[in-house]
Formats: sequence, structure tokens, C-alpha cells
Amino acid sequence: MSTATQSPETSSIRTEGTHISLSGVTKDYGLERPAVADVDLEIGGGEFVSFLGPSGSGKTTTLNMIAGLETVTRGTVSLDGVDVSHLPAYKRNLGMLFQNYALFPHMTVAQNVAYPLRERKVGRAQIKERVAAVLELVQLTGREAALPKQLSGGQQQRVALARSIVFNPRALLLDEPLGALDKNLRAALQLELRRIHREVGSTFVFVTHDQEEAMTLSDRIVLFREGGVEQVGTPEELYERPNTLFAARFLGDSNTFRVTPGADHVSYGELAWPAVPETVAPGVAEAKSAYVVVRPEHMQVAHDEPVPAGTPSISVRVHDVEYVGSFQRVVARTTDRDELITAKLSPGSATPDVGDEIKLWWRPQSQRIVIP
Ligand code: ADP
Ligand code: MG
Repeated sequence: MSTATQSPETSSIRTEGTHISLSGVTKDYGLERPAVADVDLEIGGGEFVSFLGPSGSGKTTTLNMIAGLETVTRGTVSLDGVDVSHLPAYKRNLGMLFQNYALFPHMTVAQNVAYPLRERKVGRAQIKERVAAVLELVQLTGREAALPKQLSGGQQQRVALARSIVFNPRALLLDEPLGALDKNLRAALQLELRRIHREVGSTFVFVTHDQEEAMTLSDRIVLFREGGVEQVGTPEELYERPNTLFAARFLGDSNTFRVTPGADHVSYGELAWPAVPETVAPGVAEAKSAYVVVRPEHMQVAHDEPVPAGTPSISVRVHDVEYVGSFQRVVARTTDRDELITAKLSPGSATPDVGDEIKLWWRPQSQRIVIP
């Protein structure tokens, strides 16, 4: 496992990630509906997975059931194939990091980081080596003797991160750990988390309500909605092939049209748009109504020239044209229903004027047909 480029310090913090498996996991507080209901999920060893979803959708509760901080009402949590559903948190030996980093204020950086090792009765020499290795990993070498209050918020969160991985946990559970930081610091720490994930090799489960953060960080995203899993996939899969209106709207900008599905087309009022099979989400064929999703960057403008044959299109009136650096954003309203449409035009494409009546069109392969 260790290679020529890996220093002894680095190899000492490397571990093999735990496979996490949830089966029918439910948390019921006896309220209107369960906080989490019937979650099935497989997280591969060493994967970086994000739990994404709006506030109250069950992300933290699910994470806490993996951690053992919350009991399961029903279902099974397994780590590497071993049922740990009824094992207390400390016996699961997982790393945890939260938004409020809760460092011991009277302890130095080194003492804070060493704490989990002391608790585990690790020998002095090994503690010294491990602490040095993780502080190097989070780029705080030289600050061993500082007290938390002498550090910035970002540095304090790095100390907390170092403390959460110093005992080589095979999985690290992170609940909105960057939530308290400002935008620039957040972006910097996101990059560091990616690097640290690569270097330590353990499984990361990262809770966030920020879709951009989930997209940049994760190998896969688990999208939560009202206590259940809406869809699981790579960031690209979720963006390009959402299965539901909720997923389409939660990840990225989208134009959505309520349509009636047909055999090889969808009807939008008088219009019939072709429906290519690979763009049709599961469940649409049986649904009474569906939505066509078109990302703004897939919209094209037809000025005076006709729209290409067999292509879905819609008539709009241009409301606003914004120049946004690398592209132009056209904001328009459909002429028949007055619905808001946005199109992102690449530089070089002819710009419509405000007030123009134009047609927007898109390739049938670039649309997605989803269930409500
Ligand atoms: P998220 O982390 O996605 O914001 P949570 O997992 O914290 O969501 O909450 C999911 C649902 O469970 C919410 O409706 C919340 O109000 C409810 N909930 C969470 N913890 C408790 C609790 N201890 N008692 C009762 N309801 C709870
Ligand atoms: Mg939460």
C-alpha cells in the first residue's frame, strides 16, 4: 500500500474504508410521519457520499443512526457486513465532525488532537507520531502549542477535523461541517476535504443542504426528501438524468413544463414534443401527468430561421438579457402561458433584444421527462 511518494507520516494515517449498508432503516418519533422511513442504501468502502436535501428531510437523523447517536426504530445498519444496529456509538469507532467544532478550550491544538488516542490508551510514541501526521495533513504543523481561541474559525475546524481522523476511523461522518464558515473559507476547505479523503482512504458521509457543495465534493449524492431517499447517483447522473421534478429542481437550474405523456411524444397544450426513450424517467409511462425538464444551457434561440424538424420548441417573449461573463442569460416568458423560461447562450450566438418574440428550441436528447 505505501508507495515511494508516501511519507511514513502519511502512510500511518491511511486506512481502508468501511462498507456501510442500510436496510429498511426507519426512525419514528411517533409524530405525524416518521423522521426517516425505509431507507435502503449501500455506501462503498472509501466512497465520498453526500446526503443532500432540504432542511428537515432526514439527513441528520440518518447519519446519526449510522453513528449510533440515534437508535433505529426498524431496519438494519451494517458496517462491513456486521449488524451494528444495537451497538452504542463508541463501539462503532467512527469519526464524526459537526458544524460546531467543540474543541476543548483549555487544551492546546496537540492535546485536542491527541484526545481520542489517549482515550484509546495508545502509547506516547505513537500518539506523537499520529498527531504530527494529521496536523501535517490539515496543514497546521507548527501550531501544536496554540490554544483554540488563538486560531481562526477555519483553523479551529481543521483541528476538529484532525481530531476526528487521528484514530484512523474507517468512516468519517460529517454533518454540515463547513456551515459556519464564510464562502471563501468554505471553498478552500472543500478542496482540502477532497484531498484528505484521497489521502486517508476512509469512507466519508457528508451531510449538506447545499447542492453545489454536494456536486463538487461527492462521488455520489443521496438526495433526501421528506424522510426518504428520492434518488441516488453521481452528481452528473442526478443533474443529467433526474427522475422526479423534485430532483430536477433541487440540483441546478431548470425549465420545467407540465405535460401529458404519450407513446412516443408528450403533449404541452397544442404542442406535441417527441419523447426519446432514453430521456423518459421510470414511472412516466404510467403517470397521468409528467414534466419536461430542460436545463438553461440546452436552450437554443431561433430568430427568423425555422426550428429544425422534429425538435421541441416554444414561443417566448424576451424579458431580459444579462451578460454573465462566459455566457448570456436570456429571461423570457412563454407567449401562451406566461411561464418563466431561462436560457444560457454561449458567447457568439446571436443575442435577442428585450421585447422580441422568438422561438426557443432544444434537442429531444437533451430534455428529461420526469414524474411529479
Ligand atoms: P435534516 O438533517 O435533513 O435537516 P433531520 O434529520 O434533522 O433533518 O430531521 C428530520 C425530521 O425529523 C424533521 O421533521 C425533524 O423535525 C424531525 N426530528 C428530528 N429529531 C427529532 C427528535 N429528537 N424528536 C422529534 N422529531 C425529530
Ligand atoms: Mg441536519
